[in-house]
Amino acid sequence: MNQSLLICPICLDGRLENLIEKIQIDLGSITLDNIEIESHFSICDTCGCEQANATQISQNKNIMLELKHRILQEQANNILYGKHTV
Ligand SMILES: [Zn+2]
Repeated sequence: MNQSLLICPICLDGRLENLIEKIQIDLGSITLDNIEIESHFSICDTCGCEQANATQISQNKNIMLELKHRILQEQANNILYGKHTV
């Protein structure tokens, strides 16, 4: 997947711009610091539709899996050692 601009598959007119948005995650009782994940997507400069291609979906999935792993590790640390930040 190259980074050149692609034609929007929805309106077939605009061009897609690849964007990365930082999203703050609120996990309530979880005490992980700096829970901010990157969301990869594209936005059309004509119709404004946000969409994600296969590469971006895969990147987002990996980021979520990594976050899940951090959370599980944090929960395990809390159980084993009391409050402890990763
Ligand atoms: Zn479009």
